[in-house]
Amino acid sequence: MEAKLDDFRGVWTLGEVRNGEIHPVSHELLAWGRDLADKLEVELVSVVIGHDIKEKVKELIARGADKVFVVDNPALEHFRADPFSKILTALIEEFKPEVLIASATTMGRTLMPICAVKLSAGLPADCTGLDVDLEERLLIQTRPAVGGNIMATIKTPTSRPQMSTVRPKSRRPLPADDSRTGEIIVRNFEGEYLESRVKRVDFIEEEAGGIPIQEAEVVVAFGKGLKDAKNLELINELAGLLGGSVGASRGAVDLGWISYSHQVGLSGKTVGPRLYVACGISGAVQHLAGMTSSETVVAINSDPEANIFGVADYSIIGDFSEIAPLLIDKIKQKAKEEH
Ligand code: FAD
Repeated sequence: MEAKLDDFRGVWTLGEVRNGEIHPVSHELLAWGRDLADKLEVELVSVVIGHDIKEKVKELIARGADKVFVVDNPALEHFRADPFSKILTALIEEFKPEVLIASATTMGRTLMPICAVKLSAGLPADCTGLDVDLEERLLIQTRPAVGGNIMATIKTPTSRPQMSTVRPKSRRPLPADDSRTGEIIVRNFEGEYLESRVKRVDFIEEEAGGIPIQEAEVVVAFGKGLKDAKNLELINELAGLLGGSVGASRGAVDLGWISYSHQVGLSGKTVGPRLYVACGISGAVQHLAGMTSSETVVAINSDPEANIFGVADYSIIGDFSEIAPLLIDKIKQKAKEEH
């Protein structure tokens, strides 16, 4: 008998395992999920598929989950779409969550569309905001559209679960609360569930240099206002002194000053560092789409009307090539005083 929409209850998040550890994007999703589950008055469940992770999923409870489903098998050590999608689909068909959110990472972007097709469910991708319409128990999914010029609000009323991928760093994780209790349920899948047409041969890490910008606590980003690629030395020095990674606008990437892996924004990466320093970046909506969840924003720009100042906590109006050396000296001086 076909399931009715009302048969679906509960909010699920997809936990991610990388290099044998629960990845922090899993905690960001739980912060979104906790809000949704509280509003809908249902359980918040996280699903984790991997190997040797049973002991590690306790942190998901501390970060907001009421229950964790763990599927642990050596064949699931590395993400492969075939087994992961078969297992996730089977769990969804059995337990019928009304909402399932995953991070818009390589894994989420690969796995969720396959499951959505198998389940005939809708899937708004790359959302930056989630809420619920309580009257209809519908997930309200917000994401930039039309080149980032509008924010679209999307609902998927005719199918369940309501599935969505969410941009990493669009939300800070909840603080870990070790006094929280929850249930950890281990499920086993064997045989055809573990079969895959894909064989993992090797993993070659991108040579981005330093901490990837999405994971950095400090991002020093630059745009076309740098004027000359030789000013990159100042950016690198500033980033080094602040213990940060280097980000860039698309303008700077298009000029070939730095590789695409550093691009922040709508068609690049979303970052949420504690400190974001924007140097010579105008603050186009497409750029802002990737950095407005930063805790503190410092902007350096010669144009007092620059859009970036609208999101800056500290605005420095002036020529980057004059201001950067002053900042660098100040930071060095401060570091000396502290030692
Ligand atoms: P500009 O807009 O040219 O700004 C340069 C800034 O430097 C100006 O504000 C200027 O006042 C300042 N400046 C000049 N000289 C100095 C100086 N000496 N000292 C200090 N400041 C100075 N952009 C992104 O960044 N990321 C994206 O992911 C992205 N995706 C896009 C997707 C789509 C579909 C589209 C249509 C566009 C996208 N863009 C993206 C492009 C975006 O619209 C802007 O064109 C781009 O962000 C501009 O880059 P910029 O700020 O470096 O350059």
